[in-house]
Amino acid sequence: MKTRMRFEIAILMAAVLFLLAGCSSTVQAGEGKLEKGKSNHQTTQEEADTKEKVRTADTDEKGKLLYMGHASIRITTPEGKTIYIDPYAGQGYEPAADLILVTHGHYDHYDLDKVANRNPDCKIITWKEAFVDGLYQSFDCRFASLEAVEAGNNKYHDLQDCVGYIITLTDGVSVYVSGDTSTTEQMSSLAEKEIDYAFFCCDGIYNMDLKEAAKCAEMVKAKHNIPYHMTAADGGMLFDRSRAEQFDVENRLIIEDGQEITLE
Ligand SMILES: [Zn+2]
Repeated sequence: MKTRMRFEIAILMAAVLFLLAGCSSTVQAGEGKLEKGKSNHQTTQEEADTKEKVRTADTDEKGKLLYMGHASIRITTPEGKTIYIDPYAGQGYEPAADLILVTHGHYDHYDLDKVANRNPDCKIITWKEAFVDGLYQSFDCRFASLEAVEAGNNKYHDLQDCVGYIITLTDGVSVYVSGDTSTTEQMSSLAEKEIDYAFFCCDGIYNMDLKEAAKCAEMVKAKHNIPYHMTAADGGMLFDRSRAEQFDVENRLIIEDGQEITLE
């Protein structure tokens, strides 16, 4: 009887620890070393298992995505957790943050003051945590799994100082944000990840233009291709409808700044 009780207490404690662990619970090393601008990203069994694991949500709620303009995005997960990506533009920063993702250090992506309201265990992941010693990191939060991917690769954005992210929610819906980038080696291998929503920068000044972004979208083969970061932030425009309409891809989805979509 005593042994059984001890066993039950141990189980209970393990469960409590798991619940408290939050986003910082597991930080998995990325699976490839970056060599001369080449990415050796491969899908490992572990990664596949993780994807399988997070594909079982215990709620019927769907995630939501608010596009705040420029490269700023807010995701509300099916469990009601709030993820901010590249805080800078627009409105909608009131809900307390559980996770903040930053693709690189430029001012138009990295305004943490915008997200003043944060839950006590809010985790901030920037390119510095996401790309360590040439390794792209993966993070397993209980409400999302994250994978950092290559970004940059142009005159204004060094591969070493930029990442993109693939965020997979517990119901399996995945969102890719390219960050500021031109075409990367890794993009052609992203198709196998069967991404649901993919955001491509396309300003054509600091990053790839509409044409190149469309080619990237063809490579990534996401279910929905969304133009973002379509103008230079210093021009003051956070969204440009006419430019968004020139993003010539299949499965194009235009999300206006301030518009919220359901992730399904
Ligand atoms: Zn930018």
